[in-house]
Amino acid sequence: MTSASSSEKGYIGIDLSGPVLRAAIVNDNGEIIERREAPIEADRLVAQVEQVVGELRGVHPNVETVGIAVPGLVNRTTDRVIASRDLPSTVREDLHSEFTKAMGVRVEIENDANAAAYGEYKVGAGRGSRDMFYVTIGEGIGGAIILDGKLWTGASGFAGEFGHITIDTEGLECDCGNTGCLETVASAPNIVRRANERLNRDGTSSLSRLAINKNFTADDVAHEARNGDDFSMMMIERTGKNIGTGVASVLNLLNIERVVLGGGVMDAGELILNPIIQEARRRAFQPCFEATQILAGTLGPDAASIGVALLARDAAA
Ligand SMILES: [Zn+2]
Repeated sequence: MTSASSSEKGYIGIDLSGPVLRAAIVNDNGEIIERREAPIEADRLVAQVEQVVGELRGVHPNVETVGIAVPGLVNRTTDRVIASRDLPSTVREDLHSEFTKAMGVRVEIENDANAAAYGEYKVGAGRGSRDMFYVTIGEGIGGAIILDGKLWTGASGFAGEFGHITIDTEGLECDCGNTGCLETVASAPNIVRRANERLNRDGTSSLSRLAINKNFTADDVAHEARNGDDFSMMMIERTGKNIGTGVASVLNLLNIERVVLGGGVMDAGELILNPIIQEARRRAFQPCFEATQILAGTLGPDAASIGVALLARDAAA
């Protein structure tokens, strides 16, 4: 943490995408100068956000803007959250004006994947690139496209729904109504589901250390993989291959300069990054693959709060 001088401009970013509200004041370099975390209180969200913003401004009064990242689809022309599976209380008509009224400063609301993408682009693994595709792999799978320094949000704000590209035409039904979306195989809950199915069906897999712990998580799979458990390594590798298959399509479509991958599942490090790169190389049009860099994000769980703070700053400029 750097020391805050009160004359330095600050920008607040708030990430509502997980069970924990993550709030930060960042400076113009995207460095966090103050932070707060608290379990999200969905039934009093506006009041909770107002309170956290008040605390942060108490420490650092020179706050110019507030950015709020939400786990849902945000229509950028109307500033409305129109769908959120994880935080339904954000889906209401007047959320943006409620926040603005409560804060008394300019407020921007953005989808969490777009926010994290912007953070990585400005001050993380995307720094120095002109165009970037971002993927976040956690409880769900999100994506975002940045072209020429700007988020490409599409006709109505929903571009980059990477988790819902079809990876298996015979696959499972997805929350979105399609079947066989990438999210139905490679998100954290689906890594657990696939691992459980395999452990139940295959005798040799039961030698895996995972089988000892009945209620394991995707983090446990990654942890055991890093400790050399063959079964867990195979599960992570297969997940990487599925993601790499999706990335190959993105490379062919956009011929993009850089792909940055973040989210909790990427904590598996090279164990997942390498199969993603290998599969993208195997499937993409070769000149497209050769023109790209595929990297893990560097901002970790702060990507969305840093990103949405900088988005709000740049939208106000
Ligand atoms: Zn889907």
